[in-house]
Amino acid sequence: VIAGNWKMNHGPRAAGAYVGSFLPLLGGVRSQVLLFPPALSLPAARAALGEDRGSLALGIQQIHDHPSGAFTGELSAEMAVEAGATYALVGHSERRALFRESDAEVALRFRAALRAGLQPVLCVGETLEERQGGGVEEVLGRQLDAVLGPRSSPSAEFLPPFLVAYEPVWAIGTGVHAEPEDAEAAHAFLRARIALRLGDTRSAEVPILYGGSVTPENAQALLAREGVDGLLVGGASLNPVSFAEIVRIAG
Ligand code: PEP
Repeated sequence: VIAGNWKMNHGPRAAGAYVGSFLPLLGGVRSQVLLFPPALSLPAARAALGEDRGSLALGIQQIHDHPSGAFTGELSAEMAVEAGATYALVGHSERRALFRESDAEVALRFRAALRAGLQPVLCVGETLEERQGGGVEEVLGRQLDAVLGPRSSPSAEFLPPFLVAYEPVWAIGTGVHAEPEDAEAAHAFLRARIALRLGDTRSAEVPILYGGSVTPENAQALLAREGVDGLLVGGASLNPVSFAEIVRIAG
C-alpha cells in the first residue's frame, strides 16, 4: 500500500489535473495506491478518476466522530463516503500536535470511520524527545491501545480492514527519515501489539505503513525491511511524477 497525503495542498482544479497526469503513470503497478486530497478536492479527484479506478483509491485526511450535527466546520465519515472516499487518516501527528487531538478523540474517529465503511489508517509515532528518552514503545503502545483496547477480546467493531502507519513525528516533513532498522523494530513492536489484541491471524491482515520523509531515493531501503508493508508519503506525493516513482519502486 502506497499512500499520498497532500495535507493542505492541491485545491479542486489542481487535484483533477494531478489525477489526470498520475493515472497513466500507474500502468502495471500491483500496489494499492491511496491519495488523500483535501476534502474539498475529493469530488474533483473522483471525477478525474472516472469509473476505471484500478488500484487507485481516495481517502479523507480528517473526520469528526459524529455522522452529522452542530459541529461547524467539521466533516463526517458518511459525507466522505458520499464524496468518493474509501479510506480515512486518523490521528495524524499534525492533528495530534497542532489541533491538540487526544488519544480518546482519535479512538472515536477511528470507530466513526469503521461505522461509515471507511478503512481507517491509524497514524502513530513518537516525538524526538520521546525517542531520545527511550520511550518509543511506550508511546506506540499507548496510542495503539487507546484505539484497539489493551485486552485480547476483539469485538466486531475493531476487526480489520484497517491500517496502521508508523510515522515518527521527528521524521515528518523534516527530510530526516527513520533508519530502516529502526522502522523495522517499530513495525515489529506494533505487529506484536496488534496481535495481542486481535490474535495473530487478524493482526496479519493489518498493513503497517512507514511514513516520514519518504522519497524516491529512500523508498527501496525502507520497503525492503521486514514488516514494512507500505509507505505513507507527504511532501513527495505532491508531485505526480515523484509519487509515481515511489509507487513503481514498490511494484
Ligand atoms: C505525512 O504527512 O504523513 C508525511 C509522512 O509527510 P512527509 O512525507 O512530508 O514527511
